Amino acid sequence: MSSLLRILRFAPQLNPLYLGIAASAVLAALLALATPFIIGAATDRIVDAVAGRTSVSDAVTSVVWLALAFLAAEVAATAVVSVGGYWGDVMAARMRRILSSRYYDHLLHLPQRYFDTTLTGRIVSRLNRSITELTQFLQFFSNNAFTMLITTAAVLVISAFYWWPLAVLLAVVFPVYMWLTAKTSTRWQVWEGQKNARVDTASGRFAEVVAQMPVVRAYNQQRTELVGFEERFDEAVALTREQSRFWHMMDAWRRLALNAVFGALYLLIFIRTAQGEFSVGDMVILIQLMAMARQPVMSMSYLVDSAQRAVAGSKDYFEVLEQPRERTDGRALPAGAGEPAVRFRDVTFAYDADAERPVLDGVSFDVHAGRKIAFVGESGGGKSTVTNLLMGLYPAGAGAVEVFGQDVAQTDLAALRALIATVFQEPHLFSGTVRENIAYARPDATDAEVRAAAKAAYADGFIEAFDDGYDQVIGERGLRLSGGQKQRIAVARAVLKDAPILVLDEATSALDTKSERLVQAALEDLMVGRTSLIVAHRLSTIRSVDTIVTLRGGRVEEIGAPDELAESGGIYAQLLQLQQAGTKEAKKML
Ligand code: ADP
Repeated sequence: MSSLLRILRFAPQLNPLYLGIAASAVLAALLALATPFIIGAATDRIVDAVAGRTSVSDAVTSVVWLALAFLAAEVAATAVVSVGGYWGDVMAARMRRILSSRYYDHLLHLPQRYFDTTLTGRIVSRLNRSITELTQFLQFFSNNAFTMLITTAAVLVISAFYWWPLAVLLAVVFPVYMWLTAKTSTRWQVWEGQKNARVDTASGRFAEVVAQMPVVRAYNQQRTELVGFEERFDEAVALTREQSRFWHMMDAWRRLALNAVFGALYLLIFIRTAQGEFSVGDMVILIQLMAMARQPVMSMSYLVDSAQRAVAGSKDYFEVLEQPRERTDGRALPAGAGEPAVRFRDVTFAYDADAERPVLDGVSFDVHAGRKIAFVGESGGGKSTVTNLLMGLYPAGAGAVEVFGQDVAQTDLAALRALIATVFQEPHLFSGTVRENIAYARPDATDAEVRAAAKAAYADGFIEAFDDGYDQVIGERGLRLSGGQKQRIAVARAVLKDAPILVLDEATSALDTKSERLVQAALEDLMVGRTSLIVAHRLSTIRSVDTIVTLRGGRVEEIGAPDELAESGGIYAQLLQLQQAGTKEAKKML
């Protein structure tokens, strides 16, 4: 419940709408209260005419006036309800926007570790479900709860005026009913949470499968995927059975009890009318007032149902919002403020805190401004991890990563990343045009700048050959481009960023010879004058670097100039020999 109340913190942003909705609900309730009195008064007039106490024409005139009053009240009520409904819709849409953007903003600033351990589809499913349930509840609440409260309060006051024991009884019955309804909610919540977890897992897998469709097809695993998906939903169905059986059982008992109390009250009202304590008109008024009060109390269960979903939704919602964000308030980091440009000092790191062996173990090296360093060694040796730590994607466990003389652990991560351009091994392109993809580095770049960057990446030629040139739409994840084309667009993006530090996770192994040459040439140009860190998969591409580091099992095995290492007879020298011989072992070792 407390998590649901936290949502109210966002309510000030909806101020005028909330006031409007509350006002229309109050007005609608008051207008609806006119009906019993109009019908009660008309009944008395008719009874008087039947009993011969007034003339029929007088009674008819009064009843016509009352009918007109009834019509006016109904017209006003309809107008008020329509406007309130409209405001309710707008409020819900605005609330959805507020909640979604908070969630997205938070996700965009969560540490990489969160995404390593959470299925993408799960994140999306959670966002949709929790926000839908929250907004639906707020809409239902604002459009119904005020009216309900006011109607119930008015019925209490009015009935006290007629016959106080009735008011006292109702004052006890309503809260007890609501308390019983709320009581059942705790067990209900547990089931709801379990159900949501199943649905989120299924949705998570679903999104993964959609993204990896060729793999699913290649291994003919459609059936397995479907079965797994259905199993999660079967579990959700089983949980719903339990949950619903419990809920409806409790609801039935509650309703029965409430109706029994109401039945008894009706009986008392009829008896007192027969005894002459109430006029027939009063009886009609009381019966209608009670019906008006009963209706919203019965619909309480819908409100509670919706509130329960919203509570479950808000728990999920805030669980994400409570995850600590990446640090953005550290020290600013001016480029070239100190030397060396990049330094690892005895860095030890593991992705998993409980891991037996660290992924990096006492790694130290320096790169001076404008110099190039390459990391080679067996796959899984920790090469990419070095670049991940440099970009501040993960914090070093022990030791320090320094950029321009400042410890990355204390710097603003956005400022740090502004100084680094990265070309990933797998080029990440978004759906959209070629221009948008290149300008992702700097959305305010001019056309001329985008074009210059594409030229520098040897990409201008093939882009111009597209029907729409730079406005060519490339599919999601760049599916309509060849590997080499994607890689050169990714290089153009890095060119446009024009950052002093460059990180290249080489992708050349996936390219054909011609593409590889072009990408390599583009990268060579890009490295000029920049501090470059290269994760090397082919030795041929790193002859011109200043320093080579060989990593094995997370430890630095060798460090030195390429010529020195080639002479030393160590791992690098062996790799060189093997590669020159073109053997498979060389490939395996890289
Ligand atoms: P290399 O780039 O040398 O091939 P990596 O730095 O990618 O090696 O990986 C080093 C080790 O860290 C490997 O054992 C790999 O399984 C592990 N690893 C890499 N990325 C992650 C991650 N995000 N979460 C957990 N373990 C990871």
